[in-house]
Amino acid sequence: MPENAQCPAATELPDGVRREQVRAQADAVADRAFAFRMTDHVLGQLRTQTTEDPILRQFLPVSEEMRPVPGFGTDPVGDLAARQQPAVLQKYAGRALLMVTGSCAVHCRYCFRRHFPYDEGLVDEARIEQALSHVRDDPSITELILSGGDPMVLSERRWIDLIRRIDTIGHLRRLRVHTRIPTVHPDHLKPGHFKALAESRLRCVLVAHVNHPDELDQRSATVFEALGRAGVTCLNQSVLLAGVNDRVETLARLSEALFDQGVLPYYLHQLDRVAGAAHFEVPREIGCRLMAGLRARLPGYLLPRYVVEEAGQPAKTPVDCGDAI
Ligand SMILES: *Cc1c(COP(=O)(O)O)cnc(C)c1O
Ligand code: SF4
Repeated sequence: MPENAQCPAATELPDGVRREQVRAQADAVADRAFAFRMTDHVLGQLRTQTTEDPILRQFLPVSEEMRPVPGFGTDPVGDLAARQQPAVLQKYAGRALLMVTGSCAVHCRYCFRRHFPYDEGLVDEARIEQALSHVRDDPSITELILSGGDPMVLSERRWIDLIRRIDTIGHLRRLRVHTRIPTVHPDHLKPGHFKALAESRLRCVLVAHVNHPDELDQRSATVFEALGRAGVTCLNQSVLLAGVNDRVETLARLSEALFDQGVLPYYLHQLDRVAGAAHFEVPREIGCRLMAGLRARLPGYLLPRYVVEEAGQPAKTPVDCGDAI
């Protein structure tokens, strides 16, 4: 890494040149495989205009990423071992995960797939067809999870086509979509994205990925409302992130803001120990204390399940908080 790649801790980003500064700083970090990527919509969500902003922090590369930390690796949750086919992951009973694309509208610096070898031609049309026939041949799969990357980066036309093909697999009952698009790039979603889900014979679930209440606004409200009208059950997963949402007050506001938009909290994930993300880790004892604080403030249905993904386990594992909660 070049000498000048250090990122000062809390630089003011003056109006006007804000965007240029963010880009320049981001480019200074030499992780070319997982470059800075953020949308104008997210830029509009920043409140503090500093590099400590809880929204910006999720996307802005910092020099700490390049520091190796013991215990943080490139395949933290055993995804490579769980690959059934180039584009299918199956770890849990009844559910298969289809990697529809390697791209995302944003690059979240803590992403557990940041080192995944998407560029091995993983997600071309032939591989998707191969993945769908794998699902078709396995009647034990009742739920198909669209993931990536971010599956909703697909154009309206490709999305409609994909959902129609999935619909023809008779033993599937549920279709689940894991996506950040409703909050990071809502303008990408066209009527056909919703219509395809509304017309599907499958029960549809959308799991959004929102970490901080300021990511929810009037645009996301419109998207979740359209999803609700399409009969889609909307859930949210968050990752517990230092400097982003590691306060009871923030997590409580997040749960309430989600529910205001028709979305139920589903998971709060302990950070996957992926290389480059160590500066986001919140110790489990603190996570347990945050959950206890949330439990004292919110109705039970607004509490996310605090879980960690452990390679080789048959499900996400609840974080063991002992007597703490
Ligand atoms: C997380 C995950 C799922 C979904 O797990 P749920 O507990 O059903 O939300 C499915 N497949 C893979 C590979 C996963 O990592
Ligand atoms: S949108 Fe999801 S898959 Fe894409 S970088 Fe962010 S966390 Fe990773």
